[in-house]
Amino acid sequence: MSDSKPKVAFYWCASCGGCEEAVVDLNATLLHVAASVDIVLWPVAMDFKYRDVEALAEGDLTVAFINGAIRTDEQAHIARLLRRKAVMVVAFGSCAHTGGIPGLANLTTKQKIFQTSYLNSPTVVNPEGTVPKVTTVVDGVKATLPGFWEQVHTLDQLIDVDYYLPGCPPMPDNIASAMTAILKNDLPVKGSVLGSKKALCDTCTRKKPEKAVLHKRFYQPHEIEADPEICFLAQGIVCCGPATRSGCGEKCLNGNMPCTGCFGPLDNIVDQGAAMVSAVAAYLDGQTVAELDAAVASVPDAAGTFYRYGVPASLLFRANTKEVGK
Ligand code: SF4
Ligand code: SF4
Ligand code: SF4
Repeated sequence: MSDSKPKVAFYWCASCGGCEEAVVDLNATLLHVAASVDIVLWPVAMDFKYRDVEALAEGDLTVAFINGAIRTDEQAHIARLLRRKAVMVVAFGSCAHTGGIPGLANLTTKQKIFQTSYLNSPTVVNPEGTVPKVTTVVDGVKATLPGFWEQVHTLDQLIDVDYYLPGCPPMPDNIASAMTAILKNDLPVKGSVLGSKKALCDTCTRKKPEKAVLHKRFYQPHEIEADPEICFLAQGIVCCGPATRSGCGEKCLNGNMPCTGCFGPLDNIVDQGAAMVSAVAAYLDGQTVAELDAAVASVPDAAGTFYRYGVPASLLFRANTKEVGK
């Protein structure tokens, strides 16, 4: 491979692997990208070693695409290493951008996660009560695991991030246009989200009633048969379109499912969940506190509904967060 090509790294932290699949979904475009760059790290697809990245000079790496949230010592170590080596770091996907699905773990504790996963799960047999430890000595041999932090963090709570690619996962056309913009150095100001500036409601073609339709309760998608032509909120189904960035091609809406917010907030929204609570409140029908409480209670998992992809980035988490790395 030629040394003159831009060097690119892909890395995954607390990730489901879907963002890696999204890169593979570039299909023929990926071949074009691969021919234009030198990929120097991509653990899911290629057998480069961390030492290959450590050997690079600072600034030798043109761009590092990092997906997944940050929860372990190893993730933090590699993210910091890539930051030192790369001219540009892109937070790739909602987990890196706002905390994503792994960020919901901030609603509980590390201790409870270990209890559920390693001690109390019905499929686990663990009479000695063994849980992961950073250091274990077996027959005089010391083995280590990355430390598992108390909380999940967004990538930019750990390192400086230059750009963000939204979505769970980002759409292949968004990825392709971001890569083209990076390779051509045709980028917006640092800190920008590389995506649409419109809300999903602005691109959604479902019929919106002229007057707000008020509801005494909200429904889960499985509880009623949704009209595929009408706005979900008008039908009493929570849809995160008002507070979510467009650009996904209305994927869920086209499948007659409401938006759960994976493209994250628009630039002018500080807290996506709070914006959604505000949007939904405009649809509540109730004259008394009891009626309003009943309508609110019909959304059974408020945190998971309004903050599904963004607990670590939310104002609530930031107000209570511990120092990164604890
Ligand atoms: S953003 Fe979505 S697809 Fe990507 S790693 Fe996170 S959960 Fe998986
Ligand atoms: S709330 Fe959902 S269904 Fe209604 S207009 Fe917005 S995106 Fe479309
Ligand atoms: S409709 Fe919402 S949840 Fe579905 S892909 Fe688009 S932004 Fe993500």
